[in-house]
Amino acid sequence: MPYRAPVSETCFLLDHVVGFSAVQATERFAEATSDTVQAVLTEAGKMCEEVMAPVQRNGDLHPAVLENGVVRCSPGYAEAYRAIAEGGWVAITADPEYGGMGLPLTVATAVNEMMSGACLALQLNPLLTQGQIEALEHHADEEMKALYLPRLISGEWAGTMNLTEPQAGSDVGALSSRATDNGDGTYAVTGQKIYISWGDNDFVENICHLVLARLPDAPAGTKGISLFMVPKFIPDENGNPGVANSLKVVSLEHKMGLHGSPTCVMSYEGATGWMVGEPGGGMKAMFTMMNNARLGVGGEGVGAAEGAYQHALAFANERKQGKNPYDTIIGHADVRRMLATMKAEIFTARAIALDCAVAIDMGRATGEAEWQARAAFLTPIAKAFGTDTGCEVSSMGVQVHGGMGYVEESGAAQYYRDVRVTAIYEGTNGIQAMDMVGRKLMDGGEVAGRLLDEIEAEAEAAKAALPDLAEAVWQAAETLRETTEWLVARPMPERFGTAVPYLRAFARVLGGHYHLRAAMADRDGVHGRLARFYITRLLPEHTGLLAHVRAEDAALMAISPDDLAA
Ligand SMILES: Cc1cc2nc3c(=O)[nH]c(=O)nc-3n(C[C@H](O)[C@H](O)[C@H](O)COP(=O)(O)OP(=O)(O)OC[C@H]3O[C@@H](n4cnc5c(N)ncnc54)[C@H](O)[C@@H]3O)c2cc1C
Repeated sequence: MPYRAPVSETCFLLDHVVGFSAVQATERFAEATSDTVQAVLTEAGKMCEEVMAPVQRNGDLHPAVLENGVVRCSPGYAEAYRAIAEGGWVAITADPEYGGMGLPLTVATAVNEMMSGACLALQLNPLLTQGQIEALEHHADEEMKALYLPRLISGEWAGTMNLTEPQAGSDVGALSSRATDNGDGTYAVTGQKIYISWGDNDFVENICHLVLARLPDAPAGTKGISLFMVPKFIPDENGNPGVANSLKVVSLEHKMGLHGSPTCVMSYEGATGWMVGEPGGGMKAMFTMMNNARLGVGGEGVGAAEGAYQHALAFANERKQGKNPYDTIIGHADVRRMLATMKAEIFTARAIALDCAVAIDMGRATGEAEWQARAAFLTPIAKAFGTDTGCEVSSMGVQVHGGMGYVEESGAAQYYRDVRVTAIYEGTNGIQAMDMVGRKLMDGGEVAGRLLDEIEAEAEAAKAALPDLAEAVWQAAETLRETTEWLVARPMPERFGTAVPYLRAFARVLGGHYHLRAAMADRDGVHGRLARFYITRLLPEHTGLLAHVRAEDAALMAISPDDLAA
């Protein structure tokens, strides 16, 4: 089933749902007119459909392999990567001074989503490079920027992020890789990193590893972590890849999915590195990369969900089983429920991701703290809800296929297996939710309250046109406000046991808000009908989720490890 890039749907969201016009009205992004954005998305969509989607199965059937210390990638990946690089899709947002397009992150978010829908395993490669470019733009000195940025932006070189170690997963502060000063402006980096995505490949000239490590006198925990650029080949005086650095891929992980993306165990053995930012400032610098990647990974979930949905829809239109007026299973109410749920959830997750990107763009363009705080609040929701949607929608896609969904040939299972990791990497969704109820509510719920004010005001205004839908959204926002006020009064540890249902409830209410906006713009069209489905059938889930949030905390922790083993 060929992939179709959702260009017109994305343009609808930009124009009517997520307020992209505010970004276009800024001086910084004035060139991102609707015509330009539509042309960019159309061009990127064509590349996704014609070049990336055809190699998606190759990655699954012929995973990357490690041969004599070198990673050999899946068939067709090199050619597809070249098309990504030549199209400029690696670095849409990057600084034009170094060869980037300087477009808003909102546009990049839409393009990244389409690339994920076409071939998730390959898309992860440029996504990592994008994050690295941003980290270098913010934290590297001029010399490092001049050397690395043009080559990363053109796609000649690729970037990776190296945080995880066997004993340091979610707790990055526990990492033990070390770096010693060589006295000549370089450092010797030693340690083992695990799960490093795209730690090597055979289609770029050089691979630039951003590695977190500790200096000898560094304090324990995250404050003692510094960041180093450790290239696979040390650049010579002309900036070309020179001698091989002292690092290697030890092995590749055998994974549930995402087989086209080599997940490497990396060994650094006194490898030459250059510090990025300040000593002890590694987490701050890496956070730039991780924040970018969190939204990007949320978009991966949305993209995979879209791919899985298109696959399931095509199947439902062909499979004959049982009697109904449509002749195929799309006429059965339960199949229609699954497909409508998939479509409505994709709409919600896409709107959250794009709205988050709009807030980031506005924060950058205006420097206003309010936009930056809104972006920070929406980021964990975009990551967790986007990837949960990827997992749930692709699981439903398998269900729509019946037995064929469980048979690999149909391709439905690949979406499910590939996307599953997105809820785990880039901070598990549990950690995202803890960030939301912890750091993101440390303002006493001010940002959350402003978002809810906006939702209620718009619902109020929509009451004349769509009274029942608007009332339901208003009520949901009010219930969420009460629980938010209750939650911020709780001591921090008590918030964590209910962080996940709280984040999901917030996403649910945001979904009601975006669907209502879409219905106001397209009352008698597909968005109007989809909004009615979402608001009457999916939005009510927030009530149960919020009851979970407000349940007695002691009841959770009273279930002891012994009880669990009983
Ligand atoms: C395919 C793949 C690609 C990856 N790519 C990269 C990469 O490119 N670079 C990189 O550095 N890493 C990468 N990772 C690593 C990934 O980011 C980690 O797997 C992830 O951060 C979780 O760490 P962990 O696996 O050690 O799980 P753990 O941290 O051991 O977590 C296990 C469980 O405990 C929970 N948990 C842990 N701590 C807490 C806490 N304080 N409170 C509540 N719950 C908690 C988690 O949510 C999870 O459910 C990748 C992983 C995979 C599988």
